[in-house]
Amino acid sequence: MDAESGAAQEVLRRVFGYDSFRGDQREIVDHVVAGGDALVLMPTGGGKSLCYQVPALVRPGVGVVISPLIALMQNQVDALSALGVRAGFLNSTQFPDERRTVEAQFVAGELDLLYLAPERLRLESTAQLFDRGKVGLFAIDEAHCVSQWGHDFRPDYLALSMLHERWPDVPRIALTATATAKTSDEIVQRLDLGSARRFVASFDRPNIQYRIEPKNKPDRQLLEFIRTEHAGDAGIVYCLSRNSVEKTAAFLTENGVSAVPYHAGLDNRTRAENQTRFLREDGLVVVATIAFGMGIDKPDVRFVAHLDLPKSVEGYYQETGRAGRDGQPSTAWMVYGLNDVVQQRKMIDSSEGDAAHRRQLQLHLDAMLGLCETVSCRRVQLLNYFGQHDQQPCGNCDTCLTPAESWDGTVPAQKLLSTVLRLKRERGQSFGAGHIIEILLGKKNPKVLQHDHHELTVFGIGTDLRDLEWRGVVRQLLAGGLLAVHGDYGVLTLTEASNEVLFEGRQVLLRRERERPTKPARTAKS
Ligand code: ADP
Ligand code: ZN
Repeated sequence: MDAESGAAQEVLRRVFGYDSFRGDQREIVDHVVAGGDALVLMPTGGGKSLCYQVPALVRPGVGVVISPLIALMQNQVDALSALGVRAGFLNSTQFPDERRTVEAQFVAGELDLLYLAPERLRLESTAQLFDRGKVGLFAIDEAHCVSQWGHDFRPDYLALSMLHERWPDVPRIALTATATAKTSDEIVQRLDLGSARRFVASFDRPNIQYRIEPKNKPDRQLLEFIRTEHAGDAGIVYCLSRNSVEKTAAFLTENGVSAVPYHAGLDNRTRAENQTRFLREDGLVVVATIAFGMGIDKPDVRFVAHLDLPKSVEGYYQETGRAGRDGQPSTAWMVYGLNDVVQQRKMIDSSEGDAAHRRQLQLHLDAMLGLCETVSCRRVQLLNYFGQHDQQPCGNCDTCLTPAESWDGTVPAQKLLSTVLRLKRERGQSFGAGHIIEILLGKKNPKVLQHDHHELTVFGIGTDLRDLEWRGVVRQLLAGGLLAVHGDYGVLTLTEASNEVLFEGRQVLLRRERERPTKPARTAKS
């Protein structure tokens, strides 16, 4: 062991109280201590922090950590101070005199680590500050935020390219838990990390059981899931809107599950209080929008539940990754339905940005839908997405435990698509899924009568399937690109591929909708 490696080991033991490095940590640390640049792709909970904290303590000068997690800086600094590490932070929530104190400490070399909000990089005074002190390394946390088409873009991150230009001798380490080849290529390009060494950890989280079920009565399904499998456990429930966060938290509480809401609309005090309670108390459930969780280090989160579809597989992976950091069995559970597809599509249609941007959002959504509708192992699909190929079925996700039944849905698909086609051709009309299904089922409701839709030849041709099954057909056709949905009203329209089904005999295999999903034989808590 050379001297520097020995120094790193000694810091790990003395300061952090750990006996050994994990996975790639030792190699990463040695590389950065020696002055090399690094790109670290490691899943949440993998131990990224030590990869820059240890080198910051070993190398002369201050380790500057650029992080978008402003709300957590105080916590991080407190936690490091408790270990005897000299740490400070600079962000816009501080009073000027606090900031000046930290700056003076930095210049005097009295800090080991300085956490910096990305927006401070735009200030020339920050660059001058760096020049007055000595920077030992730059750590760029959540580096995927530089990716313009990623799910978490922060414009301030673009300014990070100047670090290398102005301080070419200071090593940089970029870290992220988002690791598609595309994202990491973009990080390399934008941050000029072409000659950096890449460290890619496995993205498998074997202790997490992945499950995705058809959405029916989400609140009830959630309650049932918690009661039967995770009573008294700490968990995170993600919802899309603040309103459903509030409602769900209230519903759980009424039904004897202690739960608190968390979203950006709550005042700072309540939010901080709920977050602290979640970290400190046992068995509390936090119901949250995705505003919650980045950087939260609670080891014993036993489940992450999604009541709404995440926008991307990256988001899904990151959010579910908050379960089971302690390595104990945990569940990633989600319900998903037709409305999720309609709603996401609506959000994409109304999103700001150009056509290329919307296209990108659609690709993210398509990948997420692919994961939902897969009939093979969820874990294999997930790891494939992150570039880990040739995986074996895991035996512990819902599709492995209760293999999905598929059925030939070609005829129903043709019925549905031809209804959409006829309305368009014969009447010049487009309607949403609900109405189309009513026509197929032959329901003479007011809307059908008002439009004379009971006179269409397709009226009532779909009574062999039930409403729930039809919704499954629509959802799966949308997910497979055999049908499209648009605009505020979620009207259905045909795609190129629809024609293949209608006119070219393309077969459509669908996955059978279970009224009530059978609970996997082997659950996470066995
Ligand atoms: P990430 O930032 O990758 O999500 P963290 O750096 O927060 O992960 O580390 C996750 C958890 O693992 C933390 O509780 C951390 O203290 C612990 N940990 C990291 N490295 C080691 C190690 N070498 N030995 C023991 N525990 C570790
Ligand atoms: Zn599996």
